[in-house]
Amino acid sequence: MQVSGEPSFRESVDLMFKRASKLMDLSPGLEQKIRVCNSTYTVRFGVRLRGKIETFTGYRSVHSEHMEPVKGGIRYALSVNQDEVEALAALMTYKCALVETPFGGSKGGLCIDPRQWDEHELEQITRRFAYELIKRDLINPAQNVPAPDMGTGEREMAWIADQYKRMNTTDINGNACVTGKPIAMGGIQGRTEATGRGVQFALREFFRHPEDVAKAGLSGQLEGKRVIVQGLGNVGYHAAKFLSEEDGCKVVAVIERDGALLDPKGLDIEAVRQHMNRNSGLLAGYPGAKHVADGAAVLEEACDILIPAAMEGVIHLGNAARIKAPLIIEAANGPITYGADEILRQKGCVIIPDMYANAGGVTVSYFEWVKNLSHIRFGRMQRRAEEARSRLLVEELERLSADQGLGWSLGEGFKEKFLQGSDELALVRSGLDDTMRTAYQAMREIWHSRQDVEDLRVAAYIVSIGRVAATYRSKGL
Ligand code: NAD
Repeated sequence: MQVSGEPSFRESVDLMFKRASKLMDLSPGLEQKIRVCNSTYTVRFGVRLRGKIETFTGYRSVHSEHMEPVKGGIRYALSVNQDEVEALAALMTYKCALVETPFGGSKGGLCIDPRQWDEHELEQITRRFAYELIKRDLINPAQNVPAPDMGTGEREMAWIADQYKRMNTTDINGNACVTGKPIAMGGIQGRTEATGRGVQFALREFFRHPEDVAKAGLSGQLEGKRVIVQGLGNVGYHAAKFLSEEDGCKVVAVIERDGALLDPKGLDIEAVRQHMNRNSGLLAGYPGAKHVADGAAVLEEACDILIPAAMEGVIHLGNAARIKAPLIIEAANGPITYGADEILRQKGCVIIPDMYANAGGVTVSYFEWVKNLSHIRFGRMQRRAEEARSRLLVEELERLSADQGLGWSLGEGFKEKFLQGSDELALVRSGLDDTMRTAYQAMREIWHSRQDVEDLRVAAYIVSIGRVAATYRSKGL
């Protein structure tokens, strides 16, 4: 948590915005119009549980409606408050603009510890919260589309979609009122893994540019890099799993609520997660790795890449100077406070900012929303046609080889891969990869071409603010 005297999360986001906006030529008043949060709705509602009425407080904040619907997750945590929800809604505006998803920014939250309630109780609470938001069009396929965030997942999204459809029985686009749903409820392949997958694609793109890698004082490829991950939830687990299993990274430490596990040889992420599933989400007792109780201190251990993937404000004025990682990728939203960001930059640390690093979630949410509106699975029309075309080519090559006595034969592995038409998962991953590469290049171009832009975060803000401003200008504002 940030130390006292530091700006709040929302103020931190505002200050970061201002670092960029002062380098831009925005018309008077437009800077403020883009920066401020348009509205925040607070709801307090009661649910009869365990023989008495429990009152809950929830929020839905709309930061910018320059494009609609607005988009942003719903978080379940005791720490949820208006400041946090507004900060997260602002980040959604900038994130959507950066990765070119046609949405404004929004965010929701409910002050609740989901672990204190059983599934049936959580369903009642979620449905009641959704009811309050739906009746005010704060959940609506055309206006405001939530998604999962900390403490929520596809189960909660299914309840929300079902609640919307009960209240809007003739809306043929009802499934598009929320993303991150299970496949059986209109979800899309690859959404659950999307944010972690996006972190992997972001790092791959970063390592394609040796000059950028050198700016962090690193060299070579992603393979073999030592990684520390904080938070082994949806985002952190998938990022750590893909980086270790597919890119040859060594995850030398994971940090969770009850401390950290360390293994210089690299942890088996799947085994750690299975252990957590069996032990009420705790790391303690995992065999074959050292467990330390002070998890936060492990953020300061030596590594090549630090991935905070739990929550905001974990790198603050109190620990920033001791962080050794030369490269930090912000998988969580706002893990580095404004003051810490300055200290890290002065040390030469390269930070891949949240609005880019964790944009994989909203990117695949966009694909899910489009799928719901078009009422057809991606790949359904073209997959077999693609396969037939590839087969034609393979058969023709084989015929030519036989006719001319060339003795060619295509490798079985190649043939199998080449003949495969793209299914929904392949298309989603391809769209996500393209999005992450394109957005990185937009940031990087500004980072490298402008003397006054010293870091990727300011570059990201400049791209995003420029795009939001262009939308306002074309509307005549
Ligand atoms: P999650 O609830 O699935 O996982 C969070 C994990 O962090 C949990 O395992 C929790 O035990 C752990 N954690 C909580 N407090 C901690 C602490 N103090 N120290 C160490 N570990 C701690 O949440 P998530 O969906 O993975 O989201 C994590 C972050 O990523 C949040 O900042 C969220 O806003 C951001 N994010 C999530 C998505 C998404 O698609 N889920 C998309 C974009 C951004």
